[in-house]
Amino acid sequence: MQPGDSFDPARDRAMTCLVTGAGSGIGRAIALAFARERAHVIVNDLPSSAALDELRKDIEALGARCTLAAADVADAASVRGLFADIERLDVLVNNAGILREAPVTEISDSEWDRMIKVHLYGAFYFSREAARLMQKQRRGAIVNIASDLGQLGCENLSHYSAAKGGIIAFTKSLARELAPHGVRVNAVAPGGVLTPMVEALGARYIEEEAARYPLKRLGTPEEIAQAVRFLSSDAASFITGQIVGVNGGGVMNG
Ligand code: NAD
Repeated sequence: MQPGDSFDPARDRAMTCLVTGAGSGIGRAIALAFARERAHVIVNDLPSSAALDELRKDIEALGARCTLAAADVADAASVRGLFADIERLDVLVNNAGILREAPVTEISDSEWDRMIKVHLYGAFYFSREAARLMQKQRRGAIVNIASDLGQLGCENLSHYSAAKGGIIAFTKSLARELAPHGVRVNAVAPGGVLTPMVEALGARYIEEEAARYPLKRLGTPEEIAQAVRFLSSDAASFITGQIVGVNGGGVMNG
């Protein structure tokens, strides 16, 4: 409980959902979507991020409870420490991510490490802790945010695409392993979405990117959040191990 919290039976029976990288873009939209359902939303971002305080206000304005859980997702000890305060978890969304374009010849060892660490180790560290809780509860849902680039590959983003491809394989493996424990694991693989991460690449990139999708536009963070909300809900009770493309038709699998 946070200072000033009063007991509200409806609210305190609510689902508990943890979202990593919730300070911006897609993660913020996911956190707000859970808040609209009156979930208890645990929001993570880097300790240096000022965005979480603002997000907490927005979540509480929707009548939901919010707990801040700042940590670098790539730091195993911080992630373990953060879970020391979590007794129950219904939903984990591994969303935190970074993006930097570079030809493979110019990716330094440390840039490669950081890319894999934030995306793949981050998802592993959080899923490992969440799985311990969810197995005990015999209930839970994990949703990983992958990318269409993890399916298609992308020039000048080999480290990012490799990390996302790893997340896709991790999702399927975890889905098989945790299914007997009542825990479902899926991924959403967005195409281009208008967030600060993509806006930083410039207007020309956004225009070219939009042109490659059959729907001829980029997605919104809310459109990704809707898919996450569905996959983490009981409406998706027979869905596990799936990579759901929310990508304007940019990848079509069958
Ligand atoms: P964003 O930059 O707007 O938000 C990412 C958030 O993650 C930021 O708040 C950032 O501070 C946080 N973060 C970064 N490193 C972290 C760390 N080590 N620990 C904790 N938090 C950290 O980006 P976004 O577009 O909202 O991206 C969210 C996720 O969606 C990422 O995994 C990204 O790869 C994925 N994705 C985005 C797009 C897109 O087009 N925007 C497409 C496919 C997949």
